[in-house]
Amino acid sequence: SGKWAKAMDILREFEDKCGTPIAKLRQVADAMTVEMHAGLASDGGSKLKMLISYVDNLPSGDENGIFYALDLGGTNFRVLRVKLGGVGNVKKEFQEVSIPPNLMIGKCEELFDFIAGELAKFVATEGEDMQIPPGTQRELGFTFSFPVKQSSIAGGTLVRWTKGFNIEDAVGQDVVDELTKAMERIGLDMRVSALVNDTVGTLAGGRYSNPNVIAAVILGTGTNAAYVERANAIPKWQGLLPKSGEMVINMEWGNFRSSHLPLTEFDESLDNDSLNPGEQIFEKIISGMYLGEIVRRVLLKMAVEAEFFGETVPLKLQKPFILRTPDMSAMHHDSTPDLKVVATKLKDILEITNTSLKMRRVIVEVCETVATRGARLSAAGILGILKKIGRDTVKEGEENQKSVIAMDGGLFEHYTKFRKAMQTAMDELLGEEASRNMIIELSNDGSGLGAALLAASHSQYR
Ligand code: ADP
Ligand code: MG
Repeated sequence: SGKWAKAMDILREFEDKCGTPIAKLRQVADAMTVEMHAGLASDGGSKLKMLISYVDNLPSGDENGIFYALDLGGTNFRVLRVKLGGVGNVKKEFQEVSIPPNLMIGKCEELFDFIAGELAKFVATEGEDMQIPPGTQRELGFTFSFPVKQSSIAGGTLVRWTKGFNIEDAVGQDVVDELTKAMERIGLDMRVSALVNDTVGTLAGGRYSNPNVIAAVILGTGTNAAYVERANAIPKWQGLLPKSGEMVINMEWGNFRSSHLPLTEFDESLDNDSLNPGEQIFEKIISGMYLGEIVRRVLLKMAVEAEFFGETVPLKLQKPFILRTPDMSAMHHDSTPDLKVVATKLKDILEITNTSLKMRRVIVEVCETVATRGARLSAAGILGILKKIGRDTVKEGEENQKSVIAMDGGLFEHYTKFRKAMQTAMDELLGEEASRNMIIELSNDGSGLGAALLAASHSQYR
């Protein structure tokens, strides 16, 4: 009928606009490299903040002692206690706590009181073998996965919130001060020795076990990347050149945007309706917080303009963020011949029943389009980094030089088709030889260990 044809028009147009042929990915990668240069040249020089992490030495393997870490940056936060005794001799204990949603959009003090309280409970479970030497103070590596303008390894002010957090009175505050004050309020004696972005933590954790790690990428609720830059390639760095000659840069690549990005009307409306319009455009087309929501918006248009689900538009389909990326992923991976999983998800989440197999196939195709675009653009972003540091090609005499990207995040870990599309794009972009030397390594919760390692190397007792 005419309605089905209309729905197909919407689908085809969406697919066209989401196209990521190799030539386009190269343009995106080149734009990423250009913006990296601009962000390193001056503060405010680019959408890419290219934040200086004050980490100029990555873990050596000699780190020793008992340290705490705290990871705040998504819907959950983790507290971690590690005993470091050299590579392969690490004892980890951790606990994960979900953040009450009202605290994500409330007051600064309330959030930090909650965090300090949970940390104190965790400290209280310290066993015999996890005690720090008498007379010393516990030390903590604080992984805080939002843009922070650092003033030192253990201090920095919040630039802005992302990923659904919006606590106005925290913007501009020093997050280490806020955490320290909250710990003091409840009498928890602990020093924050390192403040790190999760990308920087993941890079540190990855390097600890693999010296070829040169960058870290997060593909989870949000997305971001960090990499090791030559200190003398950072014009905006006013300080002394570090002895190592290197500096880890937190790119904040989620805020990347470029005229080359394949954006659609759905991305525009999602952005307009978001807590942070105009910001984090790359993140909004790539990361786990948004992929399912893009799918919902496409299906909603098909429902409204082509009566795809019948004469009335399903009520639930009109609810923002009701379709989560893990559910999208489950539908996308549905391998049953009659797409049972899709049918179940539609029923359970959207209260849509009586879909035909043909309709369910269309829904899978929407998932495929959204996931593939995100995955291929992520690969282009990585190519941008490799180009910036001259690792995108194999150089004479360095035929066996490996470049390892430490990867973390639930999207990459659990969304198999996303991960595979990303690897395919990476191989296409690099070519056979170079792609043999580029390895993406899943570093599951490497950022917690990384933060503890950085707390150790910046310990007051070192
Ligand atoms: P965070 O990014 O919040 O620190 P994670 O790295 O664990 O936490 O990533 C969680 C995100 O990963 C979720 O918000 C979701 O978008 C995505 N995710 C989790 N499980 C799946 C899944 N099975 N399929 C697709 N995406 C998933
Ligand atoms: Mg995380």
